[in-house]
Amino acid sequence: MQEKGNISIHTENIFPIIKKFLYSDHEIFLRELVSNAVDATQKLKQLAGIGEFKGELGDLKVEVSFDKEAKIITISDRGIGMTADDIKKYINQIAFSGATEFVEKYKDKGDEQQIIGHFGLGFYSAFMVAEKVEINSLSHVEGSQPARWICDGSTEFEITAGDRTERGTDIILHVNTEDSEEFLNESRLQGILDKYCKFLPVAVKFGERDERVEDGKDDEDKPKYKTVKKDNIVNNPVPLWTKSPADLTDEDYLSFYRELYPFSEEPLFWIHLNVDYPFNLTGILYFPKVKKDIELQKNKIQLYSRQVFITDEVKDVVPEFLMLLHGVIDSPDIPLNVSRSFLQADSNVKKINSYITKKVADKLSDLYKKDRKEYETKWSDIGLFVKYGMLSDEKFYDKAKDFALLENVDGQYFTFDEYKTKTETLQKDKDGNIIYLYATEPAKQHAFIQSVKKKSYDVLKMDGPLDSHFIGTLEHKMDKTQLKRVDADTVDKLIDKDEKIESVLSDSDKEKAKELFEKSINDKNSTVSVESLAADEMPVIVTMPEFMRRMKDMQRNGGGGMMMMGD
Ligand code: ADP
Ligand code: MG
Repeated sequence: MQEKGNISIHTENIFPIIKKFLYSDHEIFLRELVSNAVDATQKLKQLAGIGEFKGELGDLKVEVSFDKEAKIITISDRGIGMTADDIKKYINQIAFSGATEFVEKYKDKGDEQQIIGHFGLGFYSAFMVAEKVEINSLSHVEGSQPARWICDGSTEFEITAGDRTERGTDIILHVNTEDSEEFLNESRLQGILDKYCKFLPVAVKFGERDERVEDGKDDEDKPKYKTVKKDNIVNNPVPLWTKSPADLTDEDYLSFYRELYPFSEEPLFWIHLNVDYPFNLTGILYFPKVKKDIELQKNKIQLYSRQVFITDEVKDVVPEFLMLLHGVIDSPDIPLNVSRSFLQADSNVKKINSYITKKVADKLSDLYKKDRKEYETKWSDIGLFVKYGMLSDEKFYDKAKDFALLENVDGQYFTFDEYKTKTETLQKDKDGNIIYLYATEPAKQHAFIQSVKKKSYDVLKMDGPLDSHFIGTLEHKMDKTQLKRVDADTVDKLIDKDEKIESVLSDSDKEKAKELFEKSINDKNSTVSVESLAADEMPVIVTMPEFMRRMKDMQRNGGGGMMMMGD
């Protein structure tokens, strides 16, 4: 037997699910309703632009207000508005998006990128905080009648004649005081608007604020002031990342940084992102100054979709190693109202991830090529990001190996290639491996460093917080190269040399000295060797095998706490 049919949905069952569980955070009802108001406004502007709306646009700002006594929150706009038929079509059909329909209809006639809505679900988030929602609207279409829609969150609604005389829409929320009273509060609403609506493309007003303005002069010709009420506009409708980099100065970027992160130190440099294929993405990423005791401030990047704030947990969008960067990313291709696991699997998100990695690598490479000296002076700050990236991302390693620098104990910088050239003739072992010597604590290892420098060997400085891991990665990645701590093993045994130096000690003196030192050090991991050195050098060297040293270094650095080390 075979049977085919349609699965039916009982709206009575699905409604409470949409209302309560669509969004984990109830506060985003305001984001959804304000973005609908912004969409309605943008649509009107677009229609006016192509000559389909011929009326007066007037003041187009969106307004959010509340009345604690009446227990209502109102979101008003002067956008396209809706007739009773529009309401039936767009509001009564859950998951039918008027935004998508609009974009489809006008996609060849204007900039469809400006419309935020997509899923046709946002409006119903109103019922997360309201026991009754009212729409009072007048369509922009000439001769339309105002319409009112009322719904108490059940599947029944009521449409009557409305009383709006101006084009546009009021969404009136009768707040459920049992569990949503908190939203009838000025600073709570201001906080939500600051968080989600700060960069919406249409001005959003929330109440008024006092402003002191000059008001003529007094008798002594000094300026007089008076306090006036001004609209409290919560957003900056044209944020920096939407502008063309060619029109912007360094000061613009720095002041936008201060707008995002008040009281922060100036960033090192920034990258203005701007792609439209194969996905849309704009944004500005800043490289912050990292303090010596790197306290890793992750989650500083804010994610937007068409200027609507989505989240500052960008873990899945930005490569792990770039989580240390600051700034904003805006992409309409990042799904808006979805769960984390969905975000991880999204193919656009994956593409965005590798795009950002590439952009950051390109920028660093540019800086390096443009002004090597300047780049070197910034290396102590940049190096941390680059090393972190090279440790955690193979692709980035391959790009960065051309602009990553190695610093020696004399403060000279080398690229990987340069350093290889510098060391390959003199610092080889019997098997032909190049031996890189490094110091983890140059001050303490001074004597060892001096001793090998006399032999014309070079010593790298590896005293940074990631360096013990970085050493392992370098060795793993570079062919026939080994890294040895300057005090790890007897350097003369590591490096193959033609001529042998005559010792100042006899063989029996050497043996005696060795015994004496071994006794007093009393550590089975250390090796004492009495060297055949010239008179002014250290005659006795106490060493520890390289792997023991590294283990100690790792332990000292908290066992690699911040890193997930592969090898
Ligand atoms: P979406 O915004 O994803 O399309 P919503 O559930 O948020 O879905 O809204 C459904 C539809 O209702 C919108 O697409 C739009 O056509 C209409 N709508 C909602 N709010 C307004 C408004 N303030 N003015 C005009 N139309 C609106
Ligand atoms: Mg919407």
